[in-house]
Amino acid sequence: MDQMKKRAKQKSLQKKLFAATAIILSVILLIGIYVTAASETNEYTPYAEKLNELNLFLGTEKGFELERAPSRLEGLVLLIRFLGREEDALQFSQKKHAFTDVPDWGKNYVNYAYSMGLTNGISQSRFGSDLPIEAKAYLTFILRALGYNDQKGDFRYEDAVEKALLLHIFDTVFFNKLKSERFLRGHVAYVSYCALAAKRKDKDETLIEELVAHNTVRQEKAYDMGLTQNMLSLHFIDVGQGLSVLVKDSKGNELLFDAGDNKTEKSLTAYLKEWITGHLEYAVMSHMHADHIGGMDQVLTAFQVDRAMMTNETANTKTYQSMMQVLEEKKVPKETVKSGDRYQMADLKMAVISPQREKYSSSNDYSIVLYCSFMGTNFLLTGDAETINENDILAQKTTIKADVLQVGHHGSNTSSGDSFIKAVAPKLAVISCGKNNSYGHPHQETMDTLKKYKVTVYRTDLDGTVVLYSNGRTFLN
Ligand SMILES: [Zn+2]
Repeated sequence: MDQMKKRAKQKSLQKKLFAATAIILSVILLIGIYVTAASETNEYTPYAEKLNELNLFLGTEKGFELERAPSRLEGLVLLIRFLGREEDALQFSQKKHAFTDVPDWGKNYVNYAYSMGLTNGISQSRFGSDLPIEAKAYLTFILRALGYNDQKGDFRYEDAVEKALLLHIFDTVFFNKLKSERFLRGHVAYVSYCALAAKRKDKDETLIEELVAHNTVRQEKAYDMGLTQNMLSLHFIDVGQGLSVLVKDSKGNELLFDAGDNKTEKSLTAYLKEWITGHLEYAVMSHMHADHIGGMDQVLTAFQVDRAMMTNETANTKTYQSMMQVLEEKKVPKETVKSGDRYQMADLKMAVISPQREKYSSSNDYSIVLYCSFMGTNFLLTGDAETINENDILAQKTTIKADVLQVGHHGSNTSSGDSFIKAVAPKLAVISCGKNNSYGHPHQETMDTLKKYKVTVYRTDLDGTVVLYSNGRTFLN
């Protein structure tokens, strides 16, 4: 998946960054990175400023230069930056085209864009670097970025501006301007900004939602700027052999379901500090095993928590006592939850569907199971609930169909029974487990069952932290 690939890439990126510095420096000279001088403003300035705030449009030493006509090469750089792919492009030295007119500083951009199918140049041997870019050329870039293919009949290069009008990227007033005026950097800013709200071809996500899902733009930023509806992200944080899931929306509401083991509490808290905007609305302790509540004392110390959600299960462990002590000290209100309880956090609705019995022989079976709905999407958090709980849940005959499943008990064969997975029918499932853990999690039986129902599986032991986004209509991946 893209954002995990991106994470892996970021590590190798650091090594390559030094090599890229030389290229970046020459780009600074030519295109500029910082807006250092105030420039004249025009009707497109607000759009340039908004994009600039998202780091998707940068000025030069002369300002945004909205009244200057960019070259084709500059237009391509502006597009790649707008798509949040500049870092990827700067790394891209693999050349598959035969253009001979690309200056050194622009080579990686063109290599990247050509490989991604964003440009074919103006001929086999020429990209047309120095020619002024026409509106239809920049809009062709945009349309291709949205998944439309002019080679496969989605539109014709000559009619790219008309196609953008048909897709409601802009209105007829602007269309007429494009027809009569030279194509300027101001127009680039305006059409780019408008394209943020455009849906990708045959997809249920807009360009801005995709930028959020790729971590190019922060979800709360996109929301605050009025570019998206509320969005939800699920962070299955890599805590080794344990579980910790952060659920956050764009409005700044956050819930933490478990906090992993003692060993990972520092890295967990560091991760949460990156993402939690203020305080935590809810801290949920699924059950009292150390791989779920080990880091909770640290979390409760580091953040103000409005409510703690737990069952009446207790434990005779230091980990448990230390968590309870902080709960006391910080006077965190405690909700003792049971099956049938309902909670809400802004647009997120949660139903507790387990545990259903008073007493169990295993701590795992006390796990709080939350069936969560975020507008039109659903997900299921199960902690370490096992087959006994799954069967009790199934016996209630309420809907448990979910887009995303947190696979029970780290993928153990004591959970994820065939009929349960069949009823949940998730598209995506996440297993949180440690690399080469001594339990052999995830067990083969679980993997086989998930495969049988064609579930796409992510694993924190292989993929690291897994982040999934919902726009309320679908989970993006
Ligand atoms: Zn566990």
